[in-house]
Amino acid sequence: MNDTTSGKAGGFGRPAPRIAVASGKGGTGKTSVAVSLARAALRIGRRVQLVDADVEGPNAHHFLGLGEPETFPVEAMLPRIDPARCTLCGECAAFCIYQALAVLGDRVMVFPDMCHGCEGCRVVCPVQAIENGSQEIGRIMHWQVDDFEVWQGRLHVGQVLSPTLIRELHRRARESAAGYDLTIVDSPPGTSCPMMAAVRGANRLVLVTEPTPFGLHDLELAMAAVRRMKLPVEVIVNRSIGDDAAIDDLCRARAVPVIARFPEDRTVAAAYAEGRPMIEAGAEWAKQYDDLRRHLEGPC
Ligand code: SF4
Ligand code: SF4
Repeated sequence: MNDTTSGKAGGFGRPAPRIAVASGKGGTGKTSVAVSLARAALRIGRRVQLVDADVEGPNAHHFLGLGEPETFPVEAMLPRIDPARCTLCGECAAFCIYQALAVLGDRVMVFPDMCHGCEGCRVVCPVQAIENGSQEIGRIMHWQVDDFEVWQGRLHVGQVLSPTLIRELHRRARESAAGYDLTIVDSPPGTSCPMMAAVRGANRLVLVTEPTPFGLHDLELAMAAVRRMKLPVEVIVNRSIGDDAAIDDLCRARAVPVIARFPEDRTVAAAYAEGRPMIEAGAEWAKQYDDLRRHLEGPC
């Protein structure tokens, strides 16, 4: 296919690329990379879906200048106790490892922020005094601007069910993914459940790191976390100051290619301060992102 011609969804002769951008730690520039990659693809006429799955700190929209989104509430199970049936036996509270229930005086207290919605308390209650109630855990935002679709999850403050919200975010995005040439997922930083939920279903993973001891340490953790997912993994070194030997050694040892090296650059910092992603920091950056886009649309 001509590089500058938008193909139909999956028109690269295989399923449309679904690329997750993640990092072992926050602050590596992962979101700017994800947004810049989306912009690079849009510039040559691709139809692009961007999924901001960093639900505890979503900020892709700050780089995009979007208007008002459609919003959808996301709910999760919350136990509802029937006081007429409850015998105050305490089995539900003893079962809940998240300490979201407590028998206090003549009632069972439910602490919504602690509840993980597993329904276990309902199952163990000997007198069926627990019903499935619900609570809103967050919201999903949706923007559609011509050939660009953006989905974003926002977890409510104090809520713990990031993976539940991310799964619902992916479900909605997948329903319209068939119309796009490329999906880019901005994953939460770290190596715990939210990150794993965000990258699940991708057919390619890019880990963004920086040449610092923390960056190296967390890159190693991230590589270990995704090893069993059998995903093709590649690395981008951001804010390189010319000596990335430790990262190169790690990547060589893990057989993970370094596909881009972005230098420390004041013009990028200035662009950031104005809410612009890396690709808008100048012509050289636009070229670097076009090279990266071309690489990531190719075979793994
Ligand atoms: S649903 Fe699960 S997490 Fe929530 S209170 Fe019941 S046992 Fe605890
Ligand atoms: S397990 Fe059922 S009966 Fe026992 S305290 Fe909990 S809600 Fe009440």
